[in-house]
Amino acid sequence: TSSRMFTESVPLVVEDVTRRPAAERAAMLADPGFGRYFTDSMFVARYQAGKGWYDARLTTYGPLPMDPSTAALHYAQSIFEGLKAYAQPDGSVATFRPEANAARFARGAKRLAMPPVPEDSFIAAVDALVDADRDWVPTGPDQTLYLRPYMLASEPFLGVRPASEYLFLVIASPAGAYFPRGVHPVSVYLSEDYIRAAPGGTGDVKCAGNYAASLLAQEQAIAAGCDQVVWLDAFEKRYVEEMGGMNLFFVLGSGDDAELVTPELTGTLLPGITRDSLIEVARATGHRVTERKFSVDEWRQGVADGSVTETFACGTAAVITPVGEVKARTGDFVVGDGTPGPLTMTLRESLLDIQHGRVADTRGWLH
Ligand code: PMP
Repeated sequence: TSSRMFTESVPLVVEDVTRRPAAERAAMLADPGFGRYFTDSMFVARYQAGKGWYDARLTTYGPLPMDPSTAALHYAQSIFEGLKAYAQPDGSVATFRPEANAARFARGAKRLAMPPVPEDSFIAAVDALVDADRDWVPTGPDQTLYLRPYMLASEPFLGVRPASEYLFLVIASPAGAYFPRGVHPVSVYLSEDYIRAAPGGTGDVKCAGNYAASLLAQEQAIAAGCDQVVWLDAFEKRYVEEMGGMNLFFVLGSGDDAELVTPELTGTLLPGITRDSLIEVARATGHRVTERKFSVDEWRQGVADGSVTETFACGTAAVITPVGEVKARTGDFVVGDGTPGPLTMTLRESLLDIQHGRVADTRGWLH
């Protein structure tokens, strides 16, 4: 145990967890892939209506006992987050803007009629797990420890209403470099059969159901020979929303005068923390960034007349992924020359430099 607290009144109990042998850990860290291996510990806290949060602990990673009627399994009252811990050059470990994940998690909880996890408690849980398992933070180039906070309705009850019991957990998984063999543009498929979100829906929160509903369209993209699905607006299928689990940016013009356009947050796309960070970094380097609607027509015509020079997607997992080929029923087109664009790569390096502590953190983004 320790003197850590989860909330002001709930102590965070640190158990003596069962640790894997160092050799086994080293073998996993040598080639972690993504989401395949999990660290020795996990954080779990419980919630009950009327009682609030209780029983917060770091314990040995392992299965959760669960009643077959557990509400989350039936009605997807479940939300999650994704952020990373980065080994710093001075030997410390930092997470990137966890306050932003805590705030997004709180918004998601509200939308799914779940109890909020206080934002400080969210960060305390993440910190405690990273502290306990810091030997699992990989130190290879562009390697990170991916952190997955999540909350689910754990009440055993089949009625459709907000559950009265919840679990808040944090697990961690070492992640390899996203592009171990260099950055390559992805091909995308514009989803004209399925939509991801509509106004008033849950598109702007990270709820589990959004991801289940995206899988068929992603399969369709793969069947069409593409890497990723790109979502369009629900009504006209005319405006670009986002790509799979990433936000999109379009580069207009080139050189120092290049401008960026990213779809505005209309409530149907996820407000990415990478998106927000890149808007700030790009503006700080003198680029104009506009958040507005951007149509498939504007994209296609811009590529044809040379005004749209680059397109990239961004998110926690890959940071920045260039977009090359675009497939659509309304006609295919190709952005750029098959290699990542210059602003795409400059922004990618700028953000990676901040996250990995290779430049001064002037914005207080590292925690
Ligand atoms: N859109 C969707 C649908 C996502 O799942 C994610 C990943 N959280 C993003 C965008 C990017 O968000 P972030 O930059 O916060 O990882």
